[in-house]
Amino acid sequence: MQFKAFEEGIEVNGQTVYAFVHGMGAFRSLGEQYMSASGIGRMKNGAWLFDYDGWYPQQAWLDAFAAIAREVGDGILYKIGYAIPCNAEFPPWITDIHSAVKAINIAYHMNHRKNGGRLYNAQNGTLHEGIGHYGYERVPGKDLIVSVSGNPYPCVFDRGIITAMVQQYDIKAMVIHDDSKPCRRNGAETCTYLVSW
Ligand SMILES: [Zn+2]
Repeated sequence: MQFKAFEEGIEVNGQTVYAFVHGMGAFRSLGEQYMSASGIGRMKNGAWLFDYDGWYPQQAWLDAFAAIAREVGDGILYKIGYAIPCNAEFPPWITDIHSAVKAINIAYHMNHRKNGGRLYNAQNGTLHEGIGHYGYERVPGKDLIVSVSGNPYPCVFDRGIITAMVQQYDIKAMVIHDDSKPCRRNGAETCTYLVSW
C-alpha cells in the first residue's frame, strides 16, 4: 500500500526530506508548503524553516507525498525519486550496477530510524525491520536484476530512485516496471522492477 507507514514511530532524516523537496525543481515552493502543512518544518514570511539535521515522522512525510501526487500528478514522483541519489546519503562502497541496487536498501535503512536508532548500523552492519525493503536478485547469465520493492513509498518514485542509481554506472541502463506482477498503486504490498543494461 502506498503512503501508509508500516509502523508508528518511524522517522526520516532531514537530509532525505531535503533531497525530496530539492528534486521537485520548479514545484519546489509547492513542496515546501505541503511539507509545512504536514508538520515538517514551517513557513515564515514565505520561507520554509526546516532542520536539515533533524528527524521527522515518516507518516507526515508520506502524507505530504500523497498530497503532492494528488495535486501535481504521479509523474512528479518519478522526477523526485530520480533526484534523490544526488542529494541523499548513500553508502561509500558502490562501484557498479549490482552494488548500486544493493545499496538502495542500505541507504533506505540508514536514513530512517525507530526509537531514536537508525535502522541500519554501519559499524556492525545490522539492519532492523520496520519500513520494508528494496530487493536485489541477480538473474544468472544475464545483465538483469530483479528488484522487488515492498515499502510505503509510491511505485513511480521507487522506479525513479532505482533508475538514477543504475544510470550512474551505465547511462543506457533501463528500469522497467513488471506489469505482470502486483503493484502498490493497486493496493498490493510490492512492485517488481527489472533492471537491464
Ligand atoms: Zn508498481
